[in-house]
Amino acid sequence: MKTIGIIGGMSYESTIHYYQRINDQVNERLGGLSCAKMLIYNVNFEEIRALMLENRWDEIGEALADIAVTLEKAGADYIVIATNTMHKLADYIQSRIGIPLIHIADCVADKCKAAGISKVGLIGTKYTMVEDFLIKRLEANGLEVAVPSDSGIIDEIDRVIFDELCKGEVLDRSRNEYKEIINGLIEEHGIEGIILGCTEIEMLIKPGDVNIPIFDTTQAHIDSTVDYCTEKR
Ligand code: GLU
Repeated sequence: MKTIGIIGGMSYESTIHYYQRINDQVNERLGGLSCAKMLIYNVNFEEIRALMLENRWDEIGEALADIAVTLEKAGADYIVIATNTMHKLADYIQSRIGIPLIHIADCVADKCKAAGISKVGLIGTKYTMVEDFLIKRLEANGLEVAVPSDSGIIDEIDRVIFDELCKGEVLDRSRNEYKEIINGLIEEHGIEGIILGCTEIEMLIKPGDVNIPIFDTTQAHIDSTVDYCTEKR
């Protein structure tokens, strides 16, 4: 079995799901007392968030790349960054280590392709929707990607992530807002599926909440990680 190195804590609400489900799925696959060989480096997200708000991305890049190096030295065979937004720094982090990084966009794109869907909507943090680091990677995987264009909507999706979901608050009011936003993307762009491009959104939006298939980056990332650590890939 390979050892997974997870850069977590952004937020810890979603890193818990990585820890729990990777172990559950490895055990389902291998039986007995099997669980995953896993190293988790949990950052203090409050410190990282402060740097984000001051646009100090170089410093975040250095901090996360140093963590990846630490995980590699500790025996990790693969690196998993348990957040979509920090994939903004994925290329830099990859350049600092000698082991592969399992990119979250590739994992979710594989799920879309397996479902025969190529026209998708994407919701996530402001960074993920407004910048092109995740969109470009999804497009490189053959997907056509639509994101909300209204800045008020983008701010509201982002607010719910940081003010509610990252603190473990799951509110009906926000679920209804998100459903309306996804339905708007269906009407405006004719999307066939929606990518939950933030590792906390699956806590709010579940299959059946909208009339199109949901592609959750958290679960897609977890599924690929389990394949890698059980050496199915
Ligand atoms: N977990 C979130 C994501 O998947 C947001 C937290 C962060 O900014 O890293 O993008």
